[in-house]
Order: sequence, then structure tokens, then C-alpha cells
Amino acid sequence: MDTQMLIDGRFEKGTEIEEKILNPKTGETILELPEASLAQVDAAVDAAEKAFDSWSATTPSQRAAYLLAIADAIEKDATGFAALESLNCGKPINAVINDEIPAIVDCWRFFAGAVRSLHAPVAGEYLPGHTSMVRRDPIGVVGSIAPWNYPLMMMAWKLAPAIAGGNTVVFKPSEQTPLTALKMAKLLADILPEGVVNVVLGRGESVGNALINNPKIGMISITGDIATGKKILAAAAKTVKRTHLELGGKAPVIVYDDADLEAVVAGIRTFGFYNAGQDCTAACRIYASDKVYDRFVADLASAVSTLKFNQADDTENEIGPLISKRQRDRVESFVTRASEHKHMEIVTGGKVAGEKGFFYTPTVVAGALQDDEIVRREVFGPVVSVTRFSDTDDAIAWANDSDYGLASSVWTKDISRAMKTAARLRYGCTWINTHFMLCNEMPHGGLKQSGYGKDMSVYALEDYTAVRHVMIAH
Ligand code: NAD
Repeated sequence: MDTQMLIDGRFEKGTEIEEKILNPKTGETILELPEASLAQVDAAVDAAEKAFDSWSATTPSQRAAYLLAIADAIEKDATGFAALESLNCGKPINAVINDEIPAIVDCWRFFAGAVRSLHAPVAGEYLPGHTSMVRRDPIGVVGSIAPWNYPLMMMAWKLAPAIAGGNTVVFKPSEQTPLTALKMAKLLADILPEGVVNVVLGRGESVGNALINNPKIGMISITGDIATGKKILAAAAKTVKRTHLELGGKAPVIVYDDADLEAVVAGIRTFGFYNAGQDCTAACRIYASDKVYDRFVADLASAVSTLKFNQADDTENEIGPLISKRQRDRVESFVTRASEHKHMEIVTGGKVAGEKGFFYTPTVVAGALQDDEIVRREVFGPVVSVTRFSDTDDAIAWANDSDYGLASSVWTKDISRAMKTAARLRYGCTWINTHFMLCNEMPHGGLKQSGYGKDMSVYALEDYTAVRHVMIAH
């Protein structure tokens, strides 16, 4: 197992406090990894700055070749990456192999192609005797800070557009899930020139904060909690850094009376519980028309109760455990508080599961009202709430009545109704008759307190580059 950080092309161990890396399926410690010292963080930033001049001078096609080589190397070692991601995050191995790794490889390949057609649109004469042009140039050194729910995918989403755009990077994985980032560090060191990507380990308040405060860093990209995003914004203001914030979500799901209920139930069984619900787009906040509510709740409860987890043969599992005991305790406390209200009913789940590890039974809370915390706050676990509505305007107003604005979905057979609803939903993404589906060609990112900036797509390349004006007098 790779255990060392990557700084300026060299592998180094951290010198500060050790973080226990746990196996969420058993609760056992896999290993302990020391955090980077502040001097090591500075050295990583200096290395990225030193590498910037030559990396940013490469052509898009040269950088594309590196990205394609990275994609090929991940694909070649897919089972090794998948095993490690499954070990560190508790994800079922098949979900990583079949869903995540192909999307990750495709992300690297997408940005290899996309950067070659990223044009600055203007060249012309706007003052007599002067020709103007617009350039799209890299920003410089990017500090990237990732969460624990999709470690390898977040690394791809952050690194691929950043280095494709000509930036160099210091990357910090979550302190809970650094294992695939360390394996990637080894892979990247074999392919990229030294210093282009550096990987440092540590907690947010120490290493993450040191990145934000380093004046040589031009942009901070963070995926994480809203509270973390707010702290980062405040800290980044000191040096007026560009920030790219992908924060939490609480995705509303509107189920109209003419929806294909079988499809909705199957969709929520999958997309409300994928990654044990630890997903910023999870289909977790359902508004169901009262004309179908009773049947829908009964069918959903029965479908969700069949989700397979904590089986001895991991290839049978559909979902895994929560990432930590702390996260499971948090999820449990949400459900306990919901169960104390008479108007809500835990129609399936609601229990800690397994003798070891951090499992929680997939849970459906019915009868929730708009002001209940289970409707308002991000639970980030295998729990969905269902709220009844009788008026379409109420459903849309309640769906929008949230600090979050990342993802949403609407389910109906009437395409006109679907399009009108999609236009009124204030979310970075609205799915119609599906949920959760992403593709590298399309932007992913939020509105409101879910943040700003886009991952995936050419919009991410725009975020990781700056528009400049060059004028020639002639
Ligand atoms: P988190 O905010 O606790 O941590 C995210 C990262 O930020 C970690 O690397 C952490 O070390 C670092 N960090 C924490 N405090 C910091 C500080 N003060 N300064 C600098 N860095 C700091 O989030 P998490 O618990 O790892 O991940 C779950 C959250 O991420 C959820 O809210 C989820 O919705 C969100 N998320 C959003 C998206 C999206 O695309 N919008 C995707 C995945 C996860």
C-alpha cells in the first residue's frame, strides 16, 4: 500500500500527528498516517509554483497526452484502485468497479479532449490601429481539498480540469479517506513532470487552512460541507483567492399523481441510497402527491427493505456502511428525533445494524412536514423523508424552500408539466423521470448555499482558467 505524500516528485512521510484510517465495514484500523507539517505544505506549494512556468507553457495537445496516459493507467489498475476505495470507504466493490472507475477514467479522457477545443472567442479591432484578443490562461497554483464520500472521483473532478487548463496543484484528500489519493500520487509521479501535482495529507483546520492562507496559491477548490465552505470563503478573502465551492445538498424529488410509480420507487431505492445516501445529490427529500401517497409510501418501504447490505460476500451488497461511527451516530440521532414526533412514522429501517462496522438500516420516514429538520437538514445517510402535497404550487415552493440548491428531480408522464416544473426549480440540476445520473460532458454544481463553480464539462475548464485581454498597437 502506498503511504507517502508526493512533494516535488519525491515521496515523503508527514511529520505531524497520526490519523487513524479505519475500515468502515469492520471499524478496525487499517493503518495510521502522519499529517504534513506546515513546512511540507509550503514545500508542496513552492514545488507547484516552480513547475507552473513549464507546465503552463505546454500546448493543450501535450497536456492531453498526459491526461490520456493517466486515464489508461487508472483503467489498467482498476481492480487495485477499486479494492482500496472499497476498503477505505466501505463501498461495495461492484459499485466502485462498475460505476465509479469507468466514470473516473472517462473524466480524465473528457478533459484531455475538452482542453483542445477551449477557445477564447474574440479577436478584432475595437480601437483604430489596435487589435485585441482574448486569451484563456491558467490561474497558477490551485489548492484542491476533497471530501470522503467519493475520494478518487473527487480527485479526478478536481485535478483533470485544473492540470488540463495548465495549472499546477497541491491536493489534499479527506483525512478519513486518503488511501486512493496516495495510490494516485504514485501513478501521477510516474507520468507527470515533478511538481505539477503534489499530494499532502492532513486535517482541514491545519493542512487545509495552510493551503488557503498560502499567498502563492491562486485558487482554492473545495468539495465539502456548507460550514466548511463558509470558513474557506472567509479565509480566502484575506488574499482574494478565486474559490470553487461544491458544498452540500438536500435534493427534492417531486412525484406527481401521473408518475410511473414503479419507476419512481425503483429510482429512489437506487438513487436515495447509493453510497449509503452519503451523496450530495441523494434523492432524499420526497414530495408525493396525495393521490398516490399511500401506495407510494407502502411500495417504497417494501422496496427499500430489500436493499442488500452487510452481506459476507461483498459482491452481493448494494450499499455499504457509513464512513465512521460519528457519521452513523449523527444519522441515528436524526431518525430518533424524527420518531419522537407523532406525525412522522419510520416505515422501514431506523436501526443500527451489524455487530461491527458502521452500518445503518435503509430508512424511510413518512409523514414529514416542511419544517421538520429531517426535511431541512442534510442527513448524509441512508434515510429519505416523504412529505404529502395536494397542490402543485406547494410542492414546488417547498422544494425551493431550502438553503441548498444542488440537485432536484420531477417525476411525471406529462412532459409539459415536467418542463414547467424544471423551469421553476432553483437547482443546479433537475432530472426528469430519473435522478443522480451524471455525465462528464454536462456541468455539475449548485446554486444558493450549495456553492458555485462547476465540476465536469467545459464549464469546469472555464472555472479553472482566467480570461485575459491582450492588445497590439499596429
Ligand atoms: P467536510 O467539509 O468536513 O470536509 C471536506 C474537506 O474539507 C476535507 O478534506 C476536510 O479536511 C477539509 N476541511 C474541513 N475544514 C476545513 C477548514 N477549516 N479549512 C480547510 N479545509 C477544511 O466535508 P466531508 O464531511 O468530508 O464531506 C461531506 C460533505 O461534502 C457533505 O456536506 C456533502 O454534501 C459535500 N459534498 C458535496 C459535493 C458536491 O458536488 N456539491 C460532492 C460530494 C460531497
